[in-house]
Amino acid sequence: MDKSSRLTYNKTSAEASLQSAKTFVVRCRALVENLQPHERLIEPVLTPRFVSDDLLQGLGILPEKEALKIQSHLAEAHDEVEWVRRDRGMEDIDVFAKVRFPLYLTNFQLIHWNFISTVS
Ligand SMILES: [Zn+2]
Repeated sequence: MDKSSRLTYNKTSAEASLQSAKTFVVRCRALVENLQPHERLIEPVLTPRFVSDDLLQGLGILPEKEALKIQSHLAEAHDEVEWVRRDRGMEDIDVFAKVRFPLYLTNFQLIHWNFISTVS
């Protein structure tokens, strides 16, 4: 992530965060590569949250390219909804639409979308 209120979570740039995500995928898969498929109980899943538009766009390419599962929280809490509105001037779901994030992917799940408006 490169856009969090928790500074210790932030990478220095979208590119650094994207590289970190790619490294995570490789390392996670390496942990189970010598196991039989039915023994592989872990797999990497990306959660693009509190990221810049550039990083969100980059992360949107990885699921198809790397056959990767991806999930995101969306409009989960009132303070998050307000933070996105203040920071970006739009609704949470519109941030994904803005960067043309592939919401149509079957391996993408939106979770905890508690306060999404009917307009969105
Ligand atoms: Zn959540």
